[in-house]
Amino acid sequence: MYLLLLFLLSMVPFLEVQEKPTAGIIGGTNGYIGFLPGNMPLVISIPHGGYMMPDEVPERPCINCAKNQDIFTLEIGLGIRDEIYRQTGHYPYVIINNLHRTRLDPNRNIEEAADGDKNAALAWQQFHSFIDSTCAEVQEKFGKGLYIDLHGHRHLIKRTELGYLLSNEELQLDDELLDLDSFVEYTSIRSLVNSNLNRLSFSQLIRGDDSFGSLLEQMGYPAVPSPAIPFPGRDEPYFSGGYNITRHGSSQGGTIDGIQIELDEELRRDMSKRDKLVSDLAYIIVKFLRIHYFRDFDFDRVMAPDKKQLDAPALTKGLK
Ligand SMILES: [Zn+2]
Repeated sequence: MYLLLLFLLSMVPFLEVQEKPTAGIIGGTNGYIGFLPGNMPLVISIPHGGYMMPDEVPERPCINCAKNQDIFTLEIGLGIRDEIYRQTGHYPYVIINNLHRTRLDPNRNIEEAADGDKNAALAWQQFHSFIDSTCAEVQEKFGKGLYIDLHGHRHLIKRTELGYLLSNEELQLDDELLDLDSFVEYTSIRSLVNSNLNRLSFSQLIRGDDSFGSLLEQMGYPAVPSPAIPFPGRDEPYFSGGYNITRHGSSQGGTIDGIQIELDEELRRDMSKRDKLVSDLAYIIVKFLRIHYFRDFDFDRVMAPDKKQLDAPALTKGLK
């Protein structure tokens, strides 16, 4: 009896340790892909922040493909989720690639992403099917929504780059030209251009006073495009958006828009400002939703928070 009691007591810390890091997460095979359920019309994916380098998923043999991790985007993305919950009482949906980019790059088509490895290919499929089913759920429950693909760049110009599937050259066009149907048709925020609360034009939505770039700028984060920097210079590096927002944004239909956010490296590495960055980004994302999609938090009424299902622990603490 005494021995049994001792045994049971010894289990207690084990159970505590085991329970915390996985509660609230629905994972893909071997935990390579993580999914955190949400209850608001916002989906965030973090494709390049992962650390896992398991033996059964070898390094991608491709030579000219990018393999660098977007350092700290996993920590920042999970922080944004917790912070949005703190600010609104709602959780965004979050999809994570835990594999290091040397193993898998989900922001590419499957050939380049997995480069022939079947375990990486399976993880790629799980990553995208989590986003597919999440976007379908958001569209069904809320009618529309926003998908953010969170990245980090290492360009020398220290500013946040926002991708809407418009190239450097296209962004240099005048507003009148940009607002023509031909450009609106292939942007990842096509649905928002066709239907937004303030009837703003495409150019206003991407570099006007209430654009995402403007909201960043107003809080002290230079961004392109924005009112201050309406387009990147001719020879300046700029990420216009990749596979993820092409596939999951609204350029090809649907009412879930996509924005690729590329945070500069200095911003991500500065530990002293990390908490402020996370809380500012959470605030800006929610404000953007309120201005253009759901005035006065309409989604509050659409769906009450299911705390039991969604009250995930502070996941950022479990990460290295
Ligand atoms: Zn990236």
